[in-house]
Amino acid sequence: MEKSNIVGNILFTEEQIRQRAAEIGRQIAEDYAGEPVYLIGTLRGAVVWMADIMKAIPNETEVDFVMASSYGSGTTTTGVVKIKKDLEGDIYGKNVIIIEDIVDTGTTLKHLKAYLADRNPKSIRICTLLDKPSRRIADIQADYIGFEIENLFVIGYGLDYDQKYRNLPYISYLEG
Ligand code: 5GP
Repeated sequence: MEKSNIVGNILFTEEQIRQRAAEIGRQIAEDYAGEPVYLIGTLRGAVVWMADIMKAIPNETEVDFVMASSYGSGTTTTGVVKIKKDLEGDIYGKNVIIIEDIVDTGTTLKHLKAYLADRNPKSIRICTLLDKPSRRIADIQADYIGFEIENLFVIGYGLDYDQKYRNLPYISYLEG
């Protein structure tokens, strides 16, 4: 989909995002009551948010990454997830938290969650920086949500358009 290269206003500053990460980190600490957690960041968009979240979690933490892409997402609800880069570690019996940049239609995440569940972790939850509930097609919900947004094409803080803008230290959107 073609987008303009006109960057809109700032939606969330670095300060706001860090504050939210700290709140979520406290919530995770409470929910897992001192148990270790296994964080799985989705490449490449979630890396900046992942860095904030992992620093905010006091529990013993392992960190891993996965790269998934879903065929036909946006045009079909039956998109199948392709794993382009798999986990390095074993998640059997562990408390997995998937760290996502944004949940849009939910197609990718739904398949990724099922793919990881097959490896029998103790639990799986999802922590996303942004949620666009109005776009949801797949039946999936994040457990920890940084911010809910309307239907805008957001960029920055890890999120790209054509591989650009990931380095912006705030979240903005592309006009039109
Ligand atoms: P879904 O399978 O939920 O439709 O797609 C999720 C993926 O689409 C996200 O991980 C992200 O890579 C991309 N995506 C969805 N909405 C946006 C957006 O507003 N901005 C950017 N940069 N990527 C998006």
